[in-house]
Amino acid sequence: MTTTIIGFPRIGENRELKFATEHYWKQELTQDELLQKAHELRLKHWKLQKDAGIDLIPAGDFSFFDGLLDASYLLNVVPKRYKELGLSALDEYFAIARGFQNDEHSVKALPMMKWFNTNYHYIVPEFDDDTEIKLNGTKIFDEVQEAKDAGFNAKAVIDGPYTLLKLSRFIGKKQAADFVDDLIKAYNEILAKVAESGVEWIQIDEPALSFDVNDADHELFTKLYEGILANKAGLKVNLQTYFGDVRDVYEEITTKLAFDGIGLDFVANKKNLELVEKNGFPADRVLFAGIVNGKNIWRNDYEATVATLKKIDAKNVVLSSSSSLQHVPFTAKNEQQLPADIQKHLSFATEKLAELHDLDQILAGGHDDLLKANQDLFQSVKHPVNDQVKERVANLSDKDYQRTPSRAEREAIQKKEFDLPELPTTTIGSFPQTKDVRQNRAKLRHGEISKEEYDQFNRDKIKRIVEFQEKIGLDVLVHGEYERNDMVEYFGEKLDGFVFTSNGWVQSYGTRGVKPPIIWGDVSRTGSITVDETVYAQSLTKKEMKGMLTGPVTIFNWSFPREDITPEASVTQIALAVQDEVLDLEAHDIKIIQIDEPALREKLPLRKSDWFKEYLDWAVPAFRLVHSPVQASTQIHTHMCYSEFGDIVKAIDDLDADVISFEASRSDLTLIDQLVAANFQTEVGPGVYDIHSPRVPSVEEIENIIGKILAKLPTSKVWINPDCGLKTRGEKETFASLENLVEATKKVRGSL
Ligand code: GLN
Ligand code: ZN
Repeated sequence: MTTTIIGFPRIGENRELKFATEHYWKQELTQDELLQKAHELRLKHWKLQKDAGIDLIPAGDFSFFDGLLDASYLLNVVPKRYKELGLSALDEYFAIARGFQNDEHSVKALPMMKWFNTNYHYIVPEFDDDTEIKLNGTKIFDEVQEAKDAGFNAKAVIDGPYTLLKLSRFIGKKQAADFVDDLIKAYNEILAKVAESGVEWIQIDEPALSFDVNDADHELFTKLYEGILANKAGLKVNLQTYFGDVRDVYEEITTKLAFDGIGLDFVANKKNLELVEKNGFPADRVLFAGIVNGKNIWRNDYEATVATLKKIDAKNVVLSSSSSLQHVPFTAKNEQQLPADIQKHLSFATEKLAELHDLDQILAGGHDDLLKANQDLFQSVKHPVNDQVKERVANLSDKDYQRTPSRAEREAIQKKEFDLPELPTTTIGSFPQTKDVRQNRAKLRHGEISKEEYDQFNRDKIKRIVEFQEKIGLDVLVHGEYERNDMVEYFGEKLDGFVFTSNGWVQSYGTRGVKPPIIWGDVSRTGSITVDETVYAQSLTKKEMKGMLTGPVTIFNWSFPREDITPEASVTQIALAVQDEVLDLEAHDIKIIQIDEPALREKLPLRKSDWFKEYLDWAVPAFRLVHSPVQASTQIHTHMCYSEFGDIVKAIDDLDADVISFEASRSDLTLIDQLVAANFQTEVGPGVYDIHSPRVPSVEEIENIIGKILAKLPTSKVWINPDCGLKTRGEKETFASLENLVEATKKVRGSL
């Protein structure tokens, strides 16, 4: 069989592309030098694939920032304000991704959004009424030619027009359907030009088919491809989907539209397999079977994969990854610091190439040795079992998920307990992680200071920030989170069951990467996590000190999960560990505890009908499990960094927190209308200013926003806070902004 992958991590084994690009931005590298570096990386990655036995090698999946931006840029979906900067093509491209500022011009970047259910972000293309679709650049053609010239059996790769339209913003009168004819023309030109380099296949990525496809979408999709496929210029076209299933268009794409190949993800869920089993797969098309997981980091179970493939009755099958491999780290071979039994179960991008080759050989027959070795590996896997954890989970009953008394009763009790002024002011937790804070951490890591010196430094920081908060008159204080570099890693490191890579970087957006923790064993708390810092901070003030924790759903969503137990089982274990910390804080007289869940919404299933069944039905209870045993007088806060939960307001209220803070300053407070309409019961702290910019909001501006909030919500339900943690800001603007926040609140109180 033929083997292929959908895409490869472009950042490089040691994030070479990140560093080269950032040097270019700082003008420490010329454009030619950057282009040369990119060229070398592409050649290296293609060679790696070829040497591993991959037959059909993707070209065009490389990107300096984001693949969807490459497609929209190629199609000339470039707002005028960027064109007017008069920059080189590459700098114009970076201006769209990052914004641009000089003496004459100042333009913001286009917004970024989460790429489906991954932690990768794409740049949201912007269409206006002047958008003129035409070819603008040669990136894909150059890369395909480059691969051919270097002797690789390449396939061209590009994002498709349907996904482009579904993920874009239309700011003028024209909508998606108005661009169909021009897009057909442009894709026909792309096909014709790609064909010139002599490749056989073009892979057109349409992951948006994994979302719900309604009638209008269906028509859009069909129209686009009837047009495009009428003129294939001799190329074979593979409709590549991933991250989900194609239940809404299966019949269309296998029987009506003239695709030569169809790429299906058999890892994300069971539905694609059902579709193929039930409806069959046409003998005259090629099935690109996504059977090696592009999103998780564990070795492939060959026996299970072969069993899946045996169920597929298709004449022409190409073995492929389930998605681009850009969502996993580059290679596991350097993770030698991990215990050997863990290390040998890891499969990052490079190892997945070898797995595809193995599977090909096993299917060809005569390679029982490979199958046997893999079976042995899976039989030897021993995820550390914690019997106490198992027992605790087994003994859970409904009442463990139910906090008592009711929220209304708690509200009355807490108002008395804390005696806070109307419109209490607070912050989201972190204060600026200034250079000295990061240096202190680095010094500890390099063994230049002792743990005592490290802690003492942070204590001094805590003292200073508590004094500041008291001085300006905030009502509920925080300790500042100086001891944390990352809100998930910090907890993972202190919980049993997690392990960490040394170089397991995955692109998050542009040149930014994340290094997610790995869940390997049963999770439990081995000792207190935040108690020392919080109790110390509380000892410095008579005001309430808010404890600060990361919630179970966020810890889970920002880690690489186990595959041998369900997400629900994993998250329940994490919830119990965080519950231990909540109770520990409570036992130490911390009366207000915030449990952050900024990642709760992002893992909502792609299809609405799956939202509850597949996710919220266990994610929401996990949060409740964390705080259900606390006393009525203990106040539970939560925080989310976004305001796009208008469609799941009921689920958010069901978390049964006492207070929730969220981003609102950038979104016209529309969420508040949705909260009111849904009779939302949780007290709310809609962020009154945007912390993502160094701008200092004036007192009047904040008063104004508070006024707007109070026009919609009862005063007794409202808290006043910024819209997110302050760790990425400088101190100067942070201090000025918070002073204004307190001042504005006092003025509003005075006029109540
Ligand atoms: N408490 C965290 C902080 O203030 C919350 C971070 C987040 O919302 N992502 O930094
Ligand atoms: Zn936030």
